[in-house]
Amino acid sequence: RTVFVNGSFVPEDQATVSIFDRGFLMGDAIYEVTTVIDGKLIEFPAHMARLARSLAEIEMPFEVDEDALLAMHHELIARNDLDQGMIYMQVSRGPADRDFVYPADPKPTRIAFTQSIPWLSMPFIETGFKVVSCPDKRWGRRDIKTVQILWTCMSKVDAQRKGADDVWFVEDGLVTEGSSCNAFIIKNNRIITRALSHDILHGVTRAVILKFAKEQGLEVEVRGFSVEEAQQADEAFVTASPLFATGVVELDGVTIGSGKPGPMTMQLREAHIRESLKDGL
Ligand code: PLP
Repeated sequence: RTVFVNGSFVPEDQATVSIFDRGFLMGDAIYEVTTVIDGKLIEFPAHMARLARSLAEIEMPFEVDEDALLAMHHELIARNDLDQGMIYMQVSRGPADRDFVYPADPKPTRIAFTQSIPWLSMPFIETGFKVVSCPDKRWGRRDIKTVQILWTCMSKVDAQRKGADDVWFVEDGLVTEGSSCNAFIIKNNRIITRALSHDILHGVTRAVILKFAKEQGLEVEVRGFSVEEAQQADEAFVTASPLFATGVVELDGVTIGSGKPGPMTMQLREAHIRESLKDGL
């Protein structure tokens, strides 16, 4: 693969980052993942807007030049001949002597790479996800997309050992979100999902799906829901850029709805894919 590091495109085995990088030592870094379908970037401007917001929240002095970053993403797609997959991009506060206090004059490290993944033909689209709940022990600013995601890794490994595909985090009796996706249920034709706050990542796909749902005349209720309420729902699904809307068919061993991705979930999924491919960059 050809990857991007600090302005250069190089073979992956020639890309290097300092051992003093604060992203490496302290998780002092922000990332974004943009999905690629048919060689096109899905919802790129929204991902760059969230990147700028995350960087501002941690006071990282890095200007998000959307045109330059779009050109960089396109170069990676072309050089890697990427049809379906994703581009991971990370900006860290760069190398500095180890100190909790931010360096006065940081030199942010920028990296990006591609992964080729056949998103639109993954088996889970038809079967849906089985999820298990687990306490949300992540930090309190999940709205900032930082690389410090170890609790997520630990929980997902545990979920997979239990035979599930993913985890739904629970805090104060209500589902926050999935490992890397926002959580939704549908009951009596109403779509229910948690409100935006510091408790969850503000999903690009969450916003688009809610917009579609409203356009299609569906009722949306923005509020938290419990595991028990989700188990009694007609349908459940998760959203994330590469997942679009993906059905959730089992929660803590209890089958949701028919046990297959529900019809409204699939309708939202298809509408979203159609629209986002039209607008892909
Ligand atoms: N929640 C978390 C914790 C995530 O990491 C992600 C995506 O990576 C999402 C939700 C979904 O966000 P998006 O729709 O912008 O991909």
